[in-house]
Amino acid sequence: MRLTHLSIRRFRNLGVQELDVPPEGVALVGENAQGKSNFLESIYYLETFRSFRGARDDQLIGFGEEVFRVAGRLTPPGAGVPVEVTAAFQKRGKRKKVTVDGAEPDRLSDGLGRLAAVVFSPADVAIINEGPSGRRRFLDIVLSLNAPGYLRSIQRYRQVLQQRNAALNKGLAPAMVHLWDDPLARAGAEVTAHRARWLDAVGPAFSDYYAEVSGGPGASLDYRSNPTLPDGVPAVDTVVEAFREALLRSAERERRVGTTVVGPHRDDVGVSVTGDRELDVRDFGSGGQRRTAALALRLVEAATIREARGQEPIVLMDDVFAELDEGRSERILGLIEREETGQVILTAPKDSDVRVRRDALPRWGIRAGLIET
Ligand code: ATP
Ligand code: MG
Repeated sequence: MRLTHLSIRRFRNLGVQELDVPPEGVALVGENAQGKSNFLESIYYLETFRSFRGARDDQLIGFGEEVFRVAGRLTPPGAGVPVEVTAAFQKRGKRKKVTVDGAEPDRLSDGLGRLAAVVFSPADVAIINEGPSGRRRFLDIVLSLNAPGYLRSIQRYRQVLQQRNAALNKGLAPAMVHLWDDPLARAGAEVTAHRARWLDAVGPAFSDYYAEVSGGPGASLDYRSNPTLPDGVPAVDTVVEAFREALLRSAERERRVGTTVVGPHRDDVGVSVTGDRELDVRDFGSGGQRRTAALALRLVEAATIREARGQEPIVLMDDVFAELDEGRSERILGLIEREETGQVILTAPKDSDVRVRRDALPRWGIRAGLIET
């Protein structure tokens, strides 16, 4: 897909604008705090109907305004018919409305993933630096958008978990709690199996990307599932069994703490550099190693989109060369030029920072939210 037209209404500081986006992409250059990240955020909103920066919907409404709206026209390569995706959010009543080709999908989730976009941002390093919940969120987003059935499994899991936790929290009789064990184990096992399968499949590519950018050894992703399972990709039935047993074992502790203590809501992913000595990047990585790991994660996300949806991802790059040494920047550049052949929309504070497809990308400017094409 290519984003060929974007219509923005009062999203953050972007005001009211109609933009024809060049099919090869665009480089948006502007000083700090002018709205570059906001622009990418508005585009990615059409992919997930959420802020990639983790902001609440009401924070995306222009100051003093009541509602924002973003609409994008997506044009498939060749002579395909364009798709129109819109999203709007109203402060009063917290109403979110999404349409795809003019119609509201039955569920919001039916409208997800129309752009096939991936965002590269300096803030991605939080996936490595912060706690397990950020890494689970990363898995949830990638798998919801690319693994058929994942979204339904994780939603079902959360629902059952909530019911079970409510029963534990109210101190209900054990029978009332364990009623939920079977549905919890089944939904949870599907989530676990999906995560295990994906991490196993992208491991080698992650390592190659890491090695290429760092110019040194590779890196690995290790699924730390909960309950713990043997290495490799387990069958769903094996996970159900392990999960049920773990629930029984922790029954005593659960009654004490009033919440479910095992399950994929407690999963994590280990990230290690594999040199002479294996080093856990989360605990011991340097700034550059952390940024490189985060970047490699985004590259495997893009590869997953390519494979799962059979289309070139739209690459959104927010000031990606900030704070990287020359060697790494050059190698990232080479990688992106080679792998990412779809539309590229990037931002940079200085013209000299626009390095991807130097001459092929048209330049736009931005000042106080106003884009100059
Ligand atoms: P940098 O180069 O520093 O990353 P940027 O161009 O990416 O800057 P943005 O993050 O897009 O800057 O933010 C631009 C401005 O948007 C901020 O200074 C902020 O004041 C403003 N802003 C953020 N949220 C809103 C909002 N809801 N309404 C109006 N303005 C907002
Ligand atoms: Mg920014």
